[in-house]
Amino acid sequence: MQEKELLDLKTLLVKTKREFEDLQFQFQTDLKQLGNQVQEMSTAALGYHKVVKENRNLYNMVQDLKGNIRVYCRIRHIFNAEAKNVVDFIGEDGSLVIVDPSKPHRDGRKVFQFNRVFSPLATQDDVYMDTQPLIRSVMDGYNVCIFAYGQTRSGKTHTMSGPSGELTKDMGINYLALNDLFELSNRRKDIITYDIHVQMVEIYNEQVRDLLAEDSASSRLKIRSCTSDGGLSLPDATMHSVKSTADVVNLMKFGDVNRVVSSTALNNRSSQSHSVLTVHVQGKDVSGSILRSCLHLVDLAGSERVDRSEVTGERLKEAQYINQSLSCLGDVITALAQKNSHVPYCNSKLTLLLQDSLGGNAKTLMLAHVNPERDSFGESMSTLKFARRVSMVELGAARMNKETSEVMQLKEQGAGSVDLAKMRSRLLCKESALFVLILECPTCLFKA
Ligand code: ADP
Repeated sequence: MQEKELLDLKTLLVKTKREFEDLQFQFQTDLKQLGNQVQEMSTAALGYHKVVKENRNLYNMVQDLKGNIRVYCRIRHIFNAEAKNVVDFIGEDGSLVIVDPSKPHRDGRKVFQFNRVFSPLATQDDVYMDTQPLIRSVMDGYNVCIFAYGQTRSGKTHTMSGPSGELTKDMGINYLALNDLFELSNRRKDIITYDIHVQMVEIYNEQVRDLLAEDSASSRLKIRSCTSDGGLSLPDATMHSVKSTADVVNLMKFGDVNRVVSSTALNNRSSQSHSVLTVHVQGKDVSGSILRSCLHLVDLAGSERVDRSEVTGERLKEAQYINQSLSCLGDVITALAQKNSHVPYCNSKLTLLLQDSLGGNAKTLMLAHVNPERDSFGESMSTLKFARRVSMVELGAARMNKETSEVMQLKEQGAGSVDLAKMRSRLLCKESALFVLILECPTCLFKA
């Protein structure tokens, strides 16, 4: 009996051993399969990042081909039903014909051509749809400036903020753009982590005031003129971190209350200052590279000429400051158009502040606003001529503000004790690092 039991046990042992070997084999096969799958997934992920990057580059190349400075014109509807409309034709291709009411015949017809012309029937969404591609560029590391130009009551604030500055169905570009920024940031959260900050200032009588400061009336900000190092142009302005459009809406409401509003004979609620909302975006991607960009959303003060406003004293001073800064904006644009080596950014606070978004490194959108009523023909012509001057500017291709992790590593080394021999050996093989080191290395040798 014992011998039989021993035999049974032996058979069981052999069977169990075989089963164990089978299991071991199965386990190894599964493990191998899992390894292959992980490998495939990581290859796919790598390919995905590559495709995303290529897609981003192609997208921005298309934007570059469309031109880095774009001019859209928006025609407001007529308030007074009796008033004569000077706009004769609005073409799908961006052409616009207006008629001089004093010369209603052939020689009174003035033809303009812009990237887009929006009729009074265009909705806020229609205008934003053509602006949206630039918002994506901000998230890809490009500086963007969107500014509304035109005489008082031509619809600048309506386009930028909306009818009342509140969240309504007629929200302006500021809100729609920020909505998109947050949505994109959320959509890309697996590959890029974004930090978004906001500053809001106004330029009033050539003084920059912080609209988000508790005591904005007494704040006078200094602008840093050289921001090519990625630093802030307004380092002392209050900077708020924002996580949602609602955060920005609240800040803008606070800023709007602080904005200087004064009266003129033309409009007793007209704003006499330029308001600049700046959104700073910083993104870090999976490879550790950093993208930095900013979006300036500018609601300019009314462009009407001084004599039209029939003002004296303090109001005259305000109007002169406005005219001076808008004419400096025109000069900067002309200098860019003529590819002058000197661009007079420093001649006004407005151009100095927008410097990083008006040069070859950035994308600019001007929204020229026109009041089509007969009485405003002179001002409309002046707006359209200014817009035409801007539309003739041919900026170079925009450049992305991106630092690869290698460059950042080298910069960090530069900030600490500098190992020149090590830097030199890296310099020989990294052209992109060479550029940064020359700018950043604290030793004179490299600066030279
Ligand atoms: P600006 O900022 O150029 O002084 P506003 O944006 O304040 O002009 O516009 C003046 C008035 O015209 C406001 O009551 C505004 O709501 C209205 N308005 C301007 N453009 C439009 C538009 N496209 N649709 C509806 N209302 C508009």
